[in-house]
Amino acid sequence: MQQILETACKSIQDKIGTGQIANYIPALARINPKHFGASILSLDGEVSNYGDSKVLFSIQSISKVFSLTLVLRMIGDELWKRVHHEPSGNAFNSIVQLEMERGIPRNPFINAGALVLSDILLKNKSPEICLSEVLSFIQDVSRDPSIGIDTEVAESEISTAHRNASLANFMKSCQNIEHEVAAVLETYCSLCAVSMNCEQLCRAFLYLAGEGFDPIAKKRIISPEMARRINSIMMLCGHYDASGDFAYRVGLPGKSGVGGGIVVVVPEVGVITVWSPGLNQNGNSLAGTAALEAIAKVSNWNIL
Ligand code: GLU
Repeated sequence: MQQILETACKSIQDKIGTGQIANYIPALARINPKHFGASILSLDGEVSNYGDSKVLFSIQSISKVFSLTLVLRMIGDELWKRVHHEPSGNAFNSIVQLEMERGIPRNPFINAGALVLSDILLKNKSPEICLSEVLSFIQDVSRDPSIGIDTEVAESEISTAHRNASLANFMKSCQNIEHEVAAVLETYCSLCAVSMNCEQLCRAFLYLAGEGFDPIAKKRIISPEMARRINSIMMLCGHYDASGDFAYRVGLPGKSGVGGGIVVVVPEVGVITVWSPGLNQNGNSLAGTAALEAIAKVSNWNIL
């Protein structure tokens, strides 16, 4: 595995440092674009690391997978009355599509969909209590109590969340947001601001490679059926409006975030995480996508 990782990562060195940092979130605009890290964790616990695999970064939209897992555990298929599970084919923060579809987001991995997830997680609690519950789930599946929220990123995002506020307000006008918009935004932005490294993210996603069962902790996190559904939604909707291109190039279910991280699940094999902050025009890590394409090619891991 270490050899697969090194061969693949060395083949894309020219891409590292290219692309555009997510400068619409002020606290992310300062990150050095030259970072590159990658980890692979197999279901039997073997870890391989490359480059900046232990450097913390903002997981951003990758957190939507944890929110979806918790919401499916809470309310199961009831979720699909409030959010669809179709690819959006539009930007992750598109307002136009939401209006045309009367406030029902296309899927849980675009911003509007994840705002609904935050609304469900809040369940009449304060954002603080809700966040501490989600964080303890993330710490639990990662088996790492040190994982936390980067408050500087969270505050920077909350104070500039004008577009997310408009999505949430529009959905509230369609009765698809129950709580106060400010509480939903605080919850959503804080979850995007969780800081993790590549190795921690591999551990946290292992249950999705093991049909909902974490083989290292020997613990069932979610049913096999729910795990398959989450993986299917990652495959079709995990990379914004470039989900089709990602599936074509990598052939594995995954989720990206504008912090430059991408986590990919190889069912019954393990998890791969890459991080490099320069993004392509669709908001996915440019070097990270290239590295995953190379890893999939060298390893021959795919679900197709
Ligand atoms: N916090 C970011 C936003 O709401 C998340 C975007 C992303 O990673 O897709 O714009």
